[in-house]
Amino acid sequence: MLTLAIQKSGRLNEKTVQLLRECGIAFENGGSAKLKSKARNFPMQILYLRDDDIPECVADGIADAGIVGENVYLEKRRPLRIIERLGFARCRLSIAFPKDREYCGTDDLQGLNIATSYPNILRDFLKKNRIDATIHEISGSAEIAPGIGLADAIFDIVSTGSTLLSNGLREVETILRSEAVLVAGKKLSSTNQQLLDKLVFRMCAVQLAGNRKYILLNAPNEQIEAICRLLPGMKSPTIMPLSTEGWSSIHSVIAEDEFWEKIEALKAAGAQGILVIPIEKMIL
Ligand code: ATP
Ligand code: ZN
Repeated sequence: MLTLAIQKSGRLNEKTVQLLRECGIAFENGGSAKLKSKARNFPMQILYLRDDDIPECVADGIADAGIVGENVYLEKRRPLRIIERLGFARCRLSIAFPKDREYCGTDDLQGLNIATSYPNILRDFLKKNRIDATIHEISGSAEIAPGIGLADAIFDIVSTGSTLLSNGLREVETILRSEAVLVAGKKLSSTNQQLLDKLVFRMCAVQLAGNRKYILLNAPNEQIEAICRLLPGMKSPTIMPLSTEGWSSIHSVIAEDEFWEKIEALKAAGAQGILVIPIEKMIL
């Protein structure tokens, strides 16, 4: 049986649970009191932990795999491998200065006292850039440190910047862009490796489908070629004759991010009755 560690509650929990459900795994969400739960239709148990404990738990073999922020994975320095990037819980780790302190480049970090709960990631960055600064390690959010005279600057998670602003800080240097990742220990039993492969296969299908749409439209036959060039689809588009003479229905798959641009081009090429439908799963 595969053991997967996920965050018990917090910013990773909801999307993680949603992803697993979209992978067709039925289980009770541990949320409040539960420590673990067993999937009803997949040989897997889920451990609910604080995110900070996930890398260690996987490295120690208590769990075979885990879903955690890349920031935490990098900070914890455990011997793990990233199996899949999951595209949610995106954030960046940045250095922030009091808003009226000048910043022209990394040289302005020399000699400063920087508060952070990510000392390892910061130390690497300082070393790489030959900056001699003091790291003041704190647990939890660092943004109050400059205000109370504990540090000159901070290194912390930023998502929108509004927390920084309300603490009189501004972002001056981005060091890491992070998202949720699926990590696993260096060596799994062959049964568990197979189960993990199965899970990853499903996750990929969900992720692929997530940024693609199914598109159907009607077009005059003489425009089929032009329209098919706009819609290459998975292999090639499906073309079916309409009962109206001289017209066909074209079906294909389109990436979400090029959707609006393509719709305009399709209309210009004579497409009518365009339908765009979400895809639940997609296997290449
Ligand atoms: P825990 O109780 O599990 O220790 P926590 O308080 O340390 O939780 P959360 O705030 O729930 O952590 O954040 C978990 C992860 O979500 C972070 O490590 C980061 O990868 C990501 N994250 C944090 N803040 C944001 C944000 N504002 N936007 C998007 N993702 C974020
Ligand atoms: Zn945490």
